Amino acid sequence: MRVAGAYWRGDERNPMLQRIYGTAWASAADLAAHLHRLEEAERRDHRRLGAELDLFHFPPEVGGGLPVFHPRGGLVRKLMEDYSREEHERGGYEFVWTPHLAKSTLFETSGHLEWYADGMYPPMEMEGATYYPKPMNCPFHMLIYRSQQRSYRDLPMRLFELGTVYRFEKSGVVHGLTRVRGITQDDSHIFCTPEQLPGELAGLLDFVLRVLRTFGLVDFEAELSTRDPDKFIGDPAEWDRAEAALAAALEAAGVPYVVGEGEANFYAPKIDVHVRDAIGRRWQLSTLQVDFQLPPRFDLTYIDDHGRPSRPHVIHRALFGSIERFFGILLEHYAGAFPAWLAPVQARLLPVRGDHAVYAGRIADRLRAEGFRADVAGADEKLGNRIRKAKGEKVPYVLVVGDDDVEAGTVGVNPRGGVVERGVPVDDFVARLGGEVLARTSASGDPA
Ligand code: ZN
Repeated sequence: MRVAGAYWRGDERNPMLQRIYGTAWASAADLAAHLHRLEEAERRDHRRLGAELDLFHFPPEVGGGLPVFHPRGGLVRKLMEDYSREEHERGGYEFVWTPHLAKSTLFETSGHLEWYADGMYPPMEMEGATYYPKPMNCPFHMLIYRSQQRSYRDLPMRLFELGTVYRFEKSGVVHGLTRVRGITQDDSHIFCTPEQLPGELAGLLDFVLRVLRTFGLVDFEAELSTRDPDKFIGDPAEWDRAEAALAAALEAAGVPYVVGEGEANFYAPKIDVHVRDAIGRRWQLSTLQVDFQLPPRFDLTYIDDHGRPSRPHVIHRALFGSIERFFGILLEHYAGAFPAWLAPVQARLLPVRGDHAVYAGRIADRLRAEGFRADVAGADEKLGNRIRKAKGEKVPYVLVVGDDDVEAGTVGVNPRGGVVERGVPVDDFVARLGGEVLARTSASGDPA
C-alpha cells in the first residue's frame, strides 16, 4: 500500500529504516470494498477539502499543528459553536471564561506538572514567577467553584467553557485538524453531590447523544474504563458507585459498550463515546469522566443538608472533544457538503442573462434580509461554468432565474444532489429553506 521511513526502535537517534505497509484479504470482493473505502477517505480528506473550499490552512509562519480559519471556515465554526452554546444554555450550564496562562503553582496543585508535564509547553519566566500555557481548563474551573462556600442547594453546578488549551505534540504526529497543538475544548465540569451523580451522568449522556445526532452522527458505541486494582486513588466504594452509575447511564441510553477493565486513569473512571461516520470509520469523540483527584487536591467542599462540609463529585466532560478535530471529522463525514444550516453559502442566485441580474439581486436581498446566506454569480460567465463552480463549492441550493421566473416571481431550484425543479414560487423556496435550517436537517445530500 505504501512505504514510510521509521527509526529503528522508534528512536530518532537510531538509523532510519523503510517500513512497508500491506494488507491481505480473504476474497477479491473484500479487497474491492477496502479499496473503495480508501478512495472515499482520500476524496473526503479534510486537509484537501479545507483548501478546496477555502476553510482553513496551516501557515508555516505560525508553525505545525496551528491552523488559521478563513472566513468560510470561521463561519462554519461559529455556527457549530453557536449551536453548542444554545444547547448548553438550555441544559442549565453556566458560562465561564479562563485565561490561557497560569502560574506553575496552579498546575502543581492540580497535579498536571506531576503527571502531564510531557504534554505541556515549556515554562515562561515573568517577574519572578513561572507561567505555563494551560494544557487543560479543569484547574481554573476548580478555582471558580472554590471562590465561594457552596451549599447542597447550589448543586449540581454545571460550568461550561469553549476553552483553548495547548498540548505539545511532536511535529511528526500533528495531522491536519485531527491532531493539532492548540485545541479548543467544549469543556464542562459538573459539581454534584454523590446522590446526584447517577442522574447527572444519565442526563449528560443523553445531552451528548442528542447534540451529536444533530450532526448526522447516529451510530454510537462506547467504552467504559474501570479501575486498575493496583493503581488508583480514592475510596473503592466510591469507585464502585461511579462505575455502576456510568454503566447505568449507558444502559439507559441504549448505547452498546465494552468494559475496559483496569483501563481507567488512576484518578477517574470514564466513558468514551465513539461514533461511526458516513463511510463507517470509527472516531472517539466525547468523554465523561468522574474525577476522584481534583476535589481533594483543591479541597473542594459543600455544606450538606446536615450542615456538614462534604466533598462534591466532579464530572469532566468534553462533547465534541476539540472543536478543531470535530470540524475535521465533520468535514470528512459530510465530504464537504455541509447541511444548509452549516453551509457558508446556502443559496446562490444565477441569472441566465445580464438582464435577469436585477431580479436575481432582489431575491438574494430578500433571502439575506430573512437571515439566510445568499449570493449572486453574475452572467459575465457561462451559466454551465457557474453551475459547475457552485457545485464545486457544494452550495446546497443553486437558484437559476430566467425570463419566465422574472415574469412569474419564481426560481429554478437546483438542489445539491437532487433533481432540478423549475418555476418554484420564491415564497415556497424561502419556507423550505427556513424549515430545513430551523430543523438543522439536510434535504440536500452528498453531491456524489
Ligand atoms: Zn476537566
